[in-house]
Amino acid sequence: MTLEILSFPIRPDNPSYPGNPATKFEEILSIKRGDLNNTTLLTLYTHNDTHMDAPRHFNNKGVSVDNINPEKFIYRNVRVVDVSPSLGRAIHKRDICDYIKEDTDLLLIYSGVSQYWETAKEKFIAADNQPWISADAAEYLINETNVSGIGVDFMCVDNIKNLVENRTAPIHSLFCGLNSASRTILIYENVNVRPVINEKVQKVYAIPLMLADLDGSPLTVVAEL
Ligand SMILES: [Zn+2]
Repeated sequence: MTLEILSFPIRPDNPSYPGNPATKFEEILSIKRGDLNNTTLLTLYTHNDTHMDAPRHFNNKGVSVDNINPEKFIYRNVRVVDVSPSLGRAIHKRDICDYIKEDTDLLLIYSGVSQYWETAKEKFIAADNQPWISADAAEYLINETNVSGIGVDFMCVDNIKNLVENRTAPIHSLFCGLNSASRTILIYENVNVRPVINEKVQKVYAIPLMLADLDGSPLTVVAEL
């Protein structure tokens, strides 16, 4: 069995959605400075780094990260779709539908933009480079599949320009159950999908921090090959 970690390591200088508060690591105790041990104070944001969006993110009545049924954190029928290079464009139903089967529970999408995560932060966050999920793909996933999780290698499932200019996020709203309480899809953003392209993924574990009543959580995503 091989395990691949699909989360980018959390670092204070990682790329993040423009305007998000910065991640901070503050040394509290330090063996080098003569303390008994090393400890660190963390400033994390629920939507920086590789993270889960719980339905609570866009839906006040939606479930929070700590109240999601833990069954949903383990995916057993995972499909990885490589749509690269797909910079600055919508991912449509036609890009994904051939890969999804009746039992598919997690869809991982590789657009290629994450190749810039570590090497060219400005290129990664540029709105002109960030892909998004189209309305036809989102409606297809909600209405015609049993997918319960979607992981993308970009930072927002919505079109960022549209979100900033019009303050609407139809894809987040749909996946967070704003239109139908009975059907939601958990969203994972900034997922490092590249290591599992062309791999047979047996399972994916995606377990958030138990942040009481909160809207999202940075998390470690692990794929079992
Ligand atoms: Zn998010």
